[in-house]
Amino acid sequence: MEKILVTRSSMPPMEEYVEEIKDLWESHWLTNMGVKHQRLEGMLKAYMQVKNIALCVNGHMSLETILSAMELKGEVITTPFTFVSTVNAIVRCGLKPVFCDINEKDYTIDTAQIERFITPNTTAIVPVHVYGHICNNEEIMRIARKYNLKIIYDAAHAFGVYEDGKSVAAYGDASIFSFHATKVFHTIEGGAIVYNDTGLKDRINNIKNFGITGEESVEYIGGNAKMNEFQAAMGICNLRHIDEEIGKRQKVYEEYLRCLDGVDDIVVWKIPDTVKYNYAYFPILIKGKKGIRDKVYDSLKNNNIFSRKYFYPIVSAYDCYKDIYHVEDTPVAQYVSEHILTLPMYADLTVEQVRYITESVKCIMKL
Ligand SMILES: *Cc1c(COP(=O)(O)O)cnc(C)c1O
Repeated sequence: MEKILVTRSSMPPMEEYVEEIKDLWESHWLTNMGVKHQRLEGMLKAYMQVKNIALCVNGHMSLETILSAMELKGEVITTPFTFVSTVNAIVRCGLKPVFCDINEKDYTIDTAQIERFITPNTTAIVPVHVYGHICNNEEIMRIARKYNLKIIYDAAHAFGVYEDGKSVAAYGDASIFSFHATKVFHTIEGGAIVYNDTGLKDRINNIKNFGITGEESVEYIGGNAKMNEFQAAMGICNLRHIDEEIGKRQKVYEEYLRCLDGVDDIVVWKIPDTVKYNYAYFPILIKGKKGIRDKVYDSLKNNNIFSRKYFYPIVSAYDCYKDIYHVEDTPVAQYVSEHILTLPMYADLTVEQVRYITESVKCIMKL
């Protein structure tokens, strides 16, 4: 039996990519906002229905770049149920993360609790559209307005998600996306910032290029977060196939739902009627005794199926944070992290593979 990994990067036809990079051998222009970079920005602006976008080397640097460009100070409210990148970026920008718990329904920030974490030092909220599940944007916006806070979404999982026909990228002051090889849309490594305030344009573009503002001037302490031409070329090719990609994922998702329908103790998030989802992940919450999730994970591995405990542990439990934070302070996030399992999910997963995976899960849970 061949190994089934949790994810598998989608590739455009090789000839298409080769065709796309050919002119780079003529121009010798390989990075620093070249023609591919500009073209991909234009294509993404249209696809995501946004007015401002800045491409970056990866999702993580997109978040560091926008936090730094907004010149935020003090405390930032986020959740510990995310990839460590979200929190590391906040800390590396000199800000203090404050952890709010998540809700049990879709694992995004529990908006009913946000206000109790607001202090005079709070300057922003960084909610995460975890697994591509859209946060309660309306409520987040209401709170942000009331306390004059910025909203920067970690939308790394949410490329191609729409709510009421509106792109997920339209919310907040800014959102960052990851175009990592494992994400729904990728540029090998890559990412983007989309933002509302057009006045930030120069600052963002300068900060992603060391803060350089002219041949002999540097105005900001920037880093290097530029996307190169080979990444952008991969993005141009992959974007041409994005609808097909999401369509294939949807078929996999629907097969999972059919196979797991009625199984006791397995909870699957229900896509709201108003949402057009991107089928980025297939997380299942395995109820029952603590330890059951690990048992399923281990047994699947013995059957050559590689699922992931995504996200376990929560960020506040990592060595670099555990002396400052307590996992008990966010009990829902802690519970979900101990019971969640993301099953393999990618466009080319076959119906037979999904059946094999779900039959294995069902067998293990009966033991
Ligand atoms: C992937 C991811 C990131 C980081 O993106 P990279 O492109 O890998 O740097 C940030 N946040 C979340 C939630 C992610 O899943």
